[in-house]
Amino acid sequence: MEFNKNILDMGITGRIGAANVENILFDLVFRHTKDMVFIMKVEEGPIFRYLFANETAFHRAGISHNSIGKTFQDALPPDFAGKLQEEYTRFLSSNGIKSVFDASFVEDGKVFYGETILSAVRDQDGLIQYIVAITRDITAYLHEKNKIIESGQRYRSIVDHNLDAIFSISMDGQILESNPAASKLTGFHEQQLVGNSIYELVSDLDFANFKGLVENTGSGQSLESLDCRFIHRKGYLLTLHIKTVPIIVFGEIKGIYVIIRDISEQSKNVEMIKYMAFHDQLTGLLNRRALLDKLNEQLFSPSRHEREFALISIDLDRFKYLNDSLGHLVGDEILKKAGARLLECQNEHCFVFRQGGDEFIILLLETTRKATAFFAQRILSMFKRSFYFNSQEYYISPSIGISMYPNDGKDAETLLKNADEALYRVKERGRAHFQFYRTGMSSSVTNILSIETHLRKAIEKKELSLHFQPQVDLMTGEATSFEALLRWNSKELGPISPGVFIPLAEDTGLIVPIGNWVIETACRQIKEWKRIGYEGFRVAINISPKQLQQPNFPAYLKAAMERHLIDPSCLEIEITESSMQNTEEAAPVLKIIKSIGVTVSVDDFGTGYSSLSYLKKFPIDVLKIDQSFVKDISEKAKDAAIASAIIHLGKSLGVEVIAEGVETAGQAEFLAMEGCHKAQGYYFAKPVSPHELESTYLKLAMPALREYS
Ligand code: C2E
Ligand code: MG
Ligand code: MG
Repeated sequence: MEFNKNILDMGITGRIGAANVENILFDLVFRHTKDMVFIMKVEEGPIFRYLFANETAFHRAGISHNSIGKTFQDALPPDFAGKLQEEYTRFLSSNGIKSVFDASFVEDGKVFYGETILSAVRDQDGLIQYIVAITRDITAYLHEKNKIIESGQRYRSIVDHNLDAIFSISMDGQILESNPAASKLTGFHEQQLVGNSIYELVSDLDFANFKGLVENTGSGQSLESLDCRFIHRKGYLLTLHIKTVPIIVFGEIKGIYVIIRDISEQSKNVEMIKYMAFHDQLTGLLNRRALLDKLNEQLFSPSRHEREFALISIDLDRFKYLNDSLGHLVGDEILKKAGARLLECQNEHCFVFRQGGDEFIILLLETTRKATAFFAQRILSMFKRSFYFNSQEYYISPSIGISMYPNDGKDAETLLKNADEALYRVKERGRAHFQFYRTGMSSSVTNILSIETHLRKAIEKKELSLHFQPQVDLMTGEATSFEALLRWNSKELGPISPGVFIPLAEDTGLIVPIGNWVIETACRQIKEWKRIGYEGFRVAINISPKQLQQPNFPAYLKAAMERHLIDPSCLEIEITESSMQNTEEAAPVLKIIKSIGVTVSVDDFGTGYSSLSYLKKFPIDVLKIDQSFVKDISEKAKDAAIASAIIHLGKSLGVEVIAEGVETAGQAEFLAMEGCHKAQGYYFAKPVSPHELESTYLKLAMPALREYS
């Protein structure tokens, strides 16, 4: 201040020296400095009077040389004068403590901003006599500063308003900053996040993956990862798409931005679409597409070279009957429950698929032929447990066909075809069994489409015939009734089993004309036998549920009997339990048939509905014990008990009981002892042509039965 004082003294006294150092300095500092310099004399009031201004000040602040000696009010526009008066007065009242203020100036019509620093010059008594104001043009600085502020705000906008979560982290994973979306995503407040490690948010499942991402970003690369999982504050997993960006400042990596998008919803949708593409909607089981994928995976996986696996084709017996008679809703329930039961065996080596309809496939890996046979047996026994629909009990059996890789095929198509081939054989042989594929199984008849085409023409081509199987009275040994069984000897395909073509005829509706043909042919045959002198017998014909549902069925039956002049007591109809499930419809129809005088029997009793109340509601004359119970009568106590129960039930209801599928003397003996009325089976006679029947059974009682009579 000493220096300033000298200069001021010089100004005040007008003693401006020539070329002394002080002058040079004065010139340099005051005249040529780019800052504006003003010296104001402080007078009573306070009044501030221009005492000195440097060239820059004259040039830029809008004052002239005439302003020297004037007050702000005299020299300047009132607004500006008022502002300066205020700032200077405040400076005085703060007792000259350094003050800084900004003001805008106009130079050649352009505004610039000046930052003014005021300093006090005091006299010996410490009173402020002068104020020195140095005003620096800070326009450029302000521009820069504003630019920095603006870019800061721009950055904050992109961070704060971003829908993606953004974390800025240090190289060791400490969270330095997080945006509101990060809080929303993780469930933690910003204060809970900042200062903690981002790794605490990462699921163990993806920890290594995320760590690698961060470390690699640390070397300057921007990276991304799909499907990285974090854990929400509430504990559930979030599936995320993560991008990492290095924070590079002056060429140095200072940290990492972690930008996260929550794709949990999308990934759930993707999962759902994937699930739907590979699963059956009704049962939730894997579908055919999944089967082909899995099969091909097995076939083409190099590690699985020639290792055996089994393809097991499963079809539900009599499903079509149930579906037709109980309706599709129950049909769907059956499929769901059967699927659920099969699913009980699913594990890492066993996969259950639904092919479509009532067909299921099981792929059994890491197996042998022997183990597969054991497995198939297990499935059969799983279905021994009954099913419940609408609190009604049902039994459903599966038929199973098996092909083994690599023996029975090396590609998916062959394996599937051969498993179906084996399944077809099971159906043919009477269902509820399993069978391995054998080379040489004829494939000409497996083409269902071609069977159907030929079946349509079978009647007109006279390829159908009826065979008759005697039903033998176990007391007398006489055969007094016969079951008519349909035979189809196709000219193109050869003989085809009813186990194959009857279900097909039922599916396609062909069963109605075929069934009518059977009724007609049976009646004609009875008439013919009567004509040649055989009487006192009954012929049982099998009637499908669809036939029974025909509105004019009883009338048709009656008309056929009248046409051939046969007595209704010569005729019996065999219906299955599934025909009776719709009581309201079936009961009146059966009552009419019964009133005509035709005998009504229930075929395959014990395999289906088996409701005792139904036996009461329907006019039933005969119960036929299904051959599956007869088969193991001697070995299995349970089967023996069922057979006995049916016999006793029949007796107490006053109906006749016929056992089917009797193949051995032991079975016949057991049944006779239990008091079963009649038996039918290969032990006594196979189904034979009318001609054969005439030459043997119609004349004679069965000799094999002598011992039981
Ligand atoms: P189903 O009515 O239960 O007929 C008995 C089946 O058992 C017949 O098979 C018969 O040949 C067979 N069988 C007889 N004794 C024995 C034996 O001791 N052991 C064994 N394992 N089987 C024996 P088939 O002729 O192959 O007929 C199969 C099924 O086709 C019949 O079962 C019946 O449901 C149906 N079917 C046959 N003909 C007709 C028909 O004209 N109309 C209708 N709707 N269905 C028919
Ligand atoms: Mg039958
Ligand atoms: Mg039967």
